[in-house]
Amino acid sequence: MNRVRCLVLNAALGPLDYKVPEGMVVEPGVVVECPLGPRTVIGIVWEAERLPGTEVPVEKLRNLRGLLPVPPLSAPLRRLIEWTADYYVASLASVARMALSSGGALKGRATMTEYRLTGGMPERMTPQRQAAIDALEGEQANIRELAGIAGVSEGVLRGLVNQGVLEPVEVDCDRPYDPAHPDFAEVALSAQQREASGIFSDAVRAAKFAPFLLDGVTGSGKTETYFEPVAQALRMGRQVLVLLPEIALTENFLHRFEERFGAPPVLWHSSLKSTERRRAYRAVSEGSAQVVVGARSALFLPFRQLGLIVVDEAHETSFKQEEGVRYNARDVAVMRGHFEQVPVVLASATPALESLQMAESGVYAKVDLPSRFGGAQLPAIDTIDLTEEKPPQGMWLAQRLVDGIEERLGRGEQSLLFLNRRGYAPLTLCRNCGFRYQCPNCSAWLVEHRFTNRLACHHCGHEAPAPKACTECGEPDCLVACGPGVERIADEVAERLPQSRVFVATSDTLNSPGRAAEFIAAVEAREVDVIVGTQLVTKGFHFPELTLVGVVDADLGLEGGDLRAGERTYQQVAQVAGRAGRGSKPGEVLIQTRHPEAPVIAALAAGDRDAFYSAETEMRREAGAPPFGRWAAIIISSEDDAEAREAASRIGAFRPEVAECLILGPAPAPMALLRGRYRYRFLINARRSVQLQDVIRRWLGALDHPPGVRVAVDIDPYSFV
Ligand SMILES: [Zn+2]
Ligand SMILES: [Zn+2]
Repeated sequence: MNRVRCLVLNAALGPLDYKVPEGMVVEPGVVVECPLGPRTVIGIVWEAERLPGTEVPVEKLRNLRGLLPVPPLSAPLRRLIEWTADYYVASLASVARMALSSGGALKGRATMTEYRLTGGMPERMTPQRQAAIDALEGEQANIRELAGIAGVSEGVLRGLVNQGVLEPVEVDCDRPYDPAHPDFAEVALSAQQREASGIFSDAVRAAKFAPFLLDGVTGSGKTETYFEPVAQALRMGRQVLVLLPEIALTENFLHRFEERFGAPPVLWHSSLKSTERRRAYRAVSEGSAQVVVGARSALFLPFRQLGLIVVDEAHETSFKQEEGVRYNARDVAVMRGHFEQVPVVLASATPALESLQMAESGVYAKVDLPSRFGGAQLPAIDTIDLTEEKPPQGMWLAQRLVDGIEERLGRGEQSLLFLNRRGYAPLTLCRNCGFRYQCPNCSAWLVEHRFTNRLACHHCGHEAPAPKACTECGEPDCLVACGPGVERIADEVAERLPQSRVFVATSDTLNSPGRAAEFIAAVEAREVDVIVGTQLVTKGFHFPELTLVGVVDADLGLEGGDLRAGERTYQQVAQVAGRAGRGSKPGEVLIQTRHPEAPVIAALAAGDRDAFYSAETEMRREAGAPPFGRWAAIIISSEDDAEAREAASRIGAFRPEVAECLILGPAPAPMALLRGRYRYRFLINARRSVQLQDVIRRWLGALDHPPGVRVAVDIDPYSFV
């Protein structure tokens, strides 16, 4: 083969053909350098028959420049890239880019110079040189580290290098990871866990595609249950991918993993340093990274031989990517399992309705863990009707909830208050002129943060110091905070129960693994009585002394009114309720609401999960919402409002007429301004029988737009703003 087709990493270009120079050996999947005009771009050699392009006569083809020193992308990964691009109406190049996600790794092996003793002696010995030689026996490191070990200056060591006493050694920058041992420390499982893990281990052994829904109540020990099949994959020399929703807050998981396998897993997430990225990427592609624990982007890593994929907390909406290629990692994970021919376990205590439906229709095998590990009881749940039990003027917590916290204080137990709102107050307004503080870049109010004394936008990151006087009318001391955020709730607890020690747990205060670890340690050491937290505290934490959970405002999530509002509220409250009573002491949950009769709230209070899911299923069926019908969104945006509006109405003028497919819009998006861009939106609702992606591709494919206009397609959207 002296002619190849390449997928180049430039979304504006189609596939390009190149000539393979004499002596170069290529196969599908190899990563190559392609000449493009005066530049060189990265490309992937692809099966020509799967990538239709324009036929160029062979004499016009240019030679490939070279091969990049990384293993070729495997056929299963190439099929996954094709599927993802096709399903999410994205360009192949933008999906392929996610699979080549470490620029450093593409450059190949990186080395550095270390030094070690040769056994020789310097011509002139000094006391410092002698001390260094004595201290460095058996050591190998760079000069700075050796100077530290020997307690001498770097100059002394450079002298020894010149004398041939120390010699340089080229070493790989990317040290191998400590191996995980499948039989390091097996943990005792309940009969129920053993049965479930046996099913998964058998599936790993069979090495075939098999999707599972592991449906286990909070505290049932789902993690330990899937550790056994992980061990099975390791015994077979295969790799494992575990996706977690909040990778920065996995202390507890990592600790349990290391106890079980004797070494930490390999991490993959967006805040890795580029050197760590290169090391992890190379180890994954070479097969030496055995277990990768990652955020959704780990899904496109070039595993050498996968044996198992686990998606933990599979219901989490953070698995949905909301920019670039708008994919849902939960669904793509199942497809990766399909192409790799390995089992996929979706684990959750509150599965998405879509996942339950797949289990019901027999596509996924459902495995249940119906009771808590160690015989712990599920907490007792009660509602507080805020229209009856009104909190005192200017306060947000009903007396019964405060009494509950006080009772726990007396017993040395802990309480958790949940409110999914960061900061002190979601809105600041002027009592004198009515001015409301709004973000200049977004259709959103600025949120007051008292810890930092600033007003901040949670959508674009815009920040300003909190003003002392109204910036509009100049009146001093007239600004009022409206509504509560977690900081305000913490203040209220401190005011009403002055003896309590309160901790605010949000992404503002737990913004690094180190701070998360400090928080966990403080709670475990009982240095905290009351945790006030956002959705961050709804998952993963296991505090045996935490016996009361208060949901400050269960109605909050229902206000947005998108199609998953009920499900999301149910999941959040059920997850946070699951933090209570995980040890030997029973837990209690108090839910504050103004609508105790709402189906979601009633189902939560009754602990009747099935009732909630069946009501929700009927509602979705009637609305033609997923999983019974399909939605897609098209968002048109530009920094120039008129330009965005014009592009949207032009797209609207070409709207296709398709049976059983309803196209709504264009209309200004609910967030009509976001990060400085004006936004217009189409919503499409279709029956499952409609080839929705084809409709959208044909519709949008024929239209060109000014360079400032972005047209984003969101298939199966989660965000309706
Ligand atoms: Zn004012
Ligand atoms: Zn903003």
